[in-house]
Amino acid sequence: MKAVVVGGGVAGPATAMALQQVGIEAVVLEARDRAATQAGSYLTIAPNGLDALAAIGCLDLVRDLGFPSRRNIMLGATGRQLGSITLGTPLADGTPALTMKRPHLTGALMGEAARRGIEVRYAAKVTSVRTGGERAVAVLEDGRAIEGDLLVGASGVHSSVRSAVDPSAPAARYVGLTNFGGITRDTPLAQALPTGGWQFTFGRRAFVGLHRTPADDVVWFVNVPEPEISRSQRSATSPDQWRARLADLVAADAGPARALIESGELELAGDNTHDLGHVATWHRGRVVLVGDAAHAPSPSSGQGVSLALEDAVVLAGCLATARGVPAAFESFVTARRQRVEKVVAVGARSSSSKLPGRIGRVPQEAVMRVVFRLLVTDRAQDWVTGYRVSQTPEGRAVSAGAREAGPVRA
Ligand SMILES: Cc1cc2nc3c(=O)[nH]c(=O)nc-3n(C[C@H](O)[C@H](O)[C@H](O)COP(=O)(O)OP(=O)(O)OC[C@H]3O[C@@H](n4cnc5c(N)ncnc54)[C@H](O)[C@@H]3O)c2cc1C
Repeated sequence: MKAVVVGGGVAGPATAMALQQVGIEAVVLEARDRAATQAGSYLTIAPNGLDALAAIGCLDLVRDLGFPSRRNIMLGATGRQLGSITLGTPLADGTPALTMKRPHLTGALMGEAARRGIEVRYAAKVTSVRTGGERAVAVLEDGRAIEGDLLVGASGVHSSVRSAVDPSAPAARYVGLTNFGGITRDTPLAQALPTGGWQFTFGRRAFVGLHRTPADDVVWFVNVPEPEISRSQRSATSPDQWRARLADLVAADAGPARALIESGELELAGDNTHDLGHVATWHRGRVVLVGDAAHAPSPSSGQGVSLALEDAVVLAGCLATARGVPAAFESFVTARRQRVEKVVAVGARSSSSKLPGRIGRVPQEAVMRVVFRLLVTDRAQDWVTGYRVSQTPEGRAVSAGAREAGPVRA
């Protein structure tokens, strides 16, 4: 059996490797050329996502790319602590949540898929998708058609495969925050920050995340509540202009954010933040959606990558155990829908908390302290980060395939 996988981000190569473990051949088609996939800033993979990586034999690979993120500390604009929460229980081998550069993650997954003998193509944009009978076809920009027994749409939150599955499928929703990310290298300002976790500040005009790295760099991001930034605005604004604007937005808040932004390098500018909640139809004929193409929690949830990786394992497990492809797709939806939609809903609340309320940011802090003490607790988050896909029947089917196939098939 052969699968055509559209998208070479996180879900695409992970699904291809999971499918290989259950005996399904795959080709991964990524629209961008390899050089264009090198841009981007940092993200954190929670323990539930790391467990999914372990199920496809990629945990060691990814562990080497990241640094530990054990705890998030939340501060108010005045620097007062509002709350603190772990990023979930580490894996049984002690691996905690890991923060790494997004292009390092996607590059490593694509590279590992290729190393295992999976065909991986860059600069292969899929312009249309067809399905009928027992086949699915992806048509590339140059008109070439690539055919398989099934097609996996892993093409992200703005996926065109989603509308091929259902023309009335919703588009992604702008959550009201723009995103900027950067790094300040080898800085004494790192000493002011906790080790091994994120420090978040709910500032007066922007939300800021700072993470000290083991090398005493500081990784940072800024979320700004504002209308979407247009492509023309983005191309007309220089990195120095963006940094000056961000520094101004955080200037009135306590902490080193302003100095870090002024002395740092911008790696992500003017990214509009989206989410995607209920998509009624995840599959049609021989085509199925996974990852952000089917359900995208806002980046504030810190769960998009982990859910995409869980999807990869569950889809492969369903294909290994169900009677036929349509039945496998239906089992996949049954196994996944409730969990992912709940995470998207939690992520939407998390994004909203970054928007200053009507009463103003500083008075709002009293309410937030109560929320962090009573509602956003380690126990309340356990269903998200404590989930272990490897312990599900689908996860066990995939892991068993890995043992039979051996770790590498070059
Ligand atoms: C700023 C930001 C910060 C984030 N931080 C976190 C975090 O800390 N933790 C976390 O878990 N998640 C985070 N996320 C979310 C996470 O990045 C996504 O949920 C995750 O990347 C989804 O993986 P995916 O493979 O489904 O989609 P993507 O990673 O978006 O990959 C889709 C791929 O498909 C390709 N593609 C699109 N159309 C086509 C086509 N027609 N033909 C071929 N290829 C195509 C794209 O080029 C892309 O490479 C963040 C997101 C953003 C934007």
